[in-house]
Amino acid sequence: MKELKSIIEEINKKKTKNNITFLTGAGISSASGIPTYRGSDGIWIKGTKHYKPESFGTFEHFCKNADQVWQYTFFRKKMFSEAFPNESHIKLVSIENQLKNKFNLITQNIDNLHQRAGSKNVYEIHGNLREMRCSKECSKEVYKIPSEITLKEIDEDLSYDEKELLKCPKCNEDTRPNILWFDEYYNERNFKLDTTLKIAKNSGLIVILGSSGATNLPNRLVEQTIKYGGYVIDVNLEDNLFTKNFKDKKHFYKYRGTILNFLKEFEAVI
Ligand SMILES: [Zn+2]
Repeated sequence: MKELKSIIEEINKKKTKNNITFLTGAGISSASGIPTYRGSDGIWIKGTKHYKPESFGTFEHFCKNADQVWQYTFFRKKMFSEAFPNESHIKLVSIENQLKNKFNLITQNIDNLHQRAGSKNVYEIHGNLREMRCSKECSKEVYKIPSEITLKEIDEDLSYDEKELLKCPKCNEDTRPNILWFDEYYNERNFKLDTTLKIAKNSGLIVILGSSGATNLPNRLVEQTIKYGGYVIDVNLEDNLFTKNFKDKKHFYKYRGTILNFLKEFEAVI
């Protein structure tokens, strides 16, 4: 890999397209004990029913099983709330403090750990579990998930009153978590599609941390940075779909090691 130091120096000399963007995926949260959603175990819910993540995490499934999906959502929220940001999350905060407005953090994660660590400039391209919106899209409104609803164990149902709090305030239909499901498309309003593509265009460097490139927008972001002359560093323990898609590009570099080690090396040269 070209010396990290010389890449950073080159970017620092640029007057434009000199942002530095980090793109994070599930790999950065695994050290906090959060299993990947697509893990081989799949989704186990109450009653020992078992689903493939790709069929459970869909709008189609939600339409038939809203209560079950909300119950599972509050179980996941509980798991996230019991986890803590790890050293890599914290390192990114310190890097943001040094790079200031040149720093961007684009995350596929919905676990809120970057924000809890203290990161400010975060774009959540797969949504988050703090918000909900009308499942019938009766308005563009996004609502805070009511804090009165207690987080749930894997086998614990929502009460009648809690379910009432999850009705759309405007039309009384079900609300849904404000996340991107497998059968849905990215957009600007909820997932910052245009904003993040613009950020990628203006990035002299995009660093992939713990994402395997299995979803569409992350690949488009990397493609965009490369198209406008920026560098890409794929930080991963092993080759993945990003490697497969971009390995022949001139400005694509692989770093095979842990996220934390990379961030330590990175911080030493900025
Ligand atoms: Zn509504």
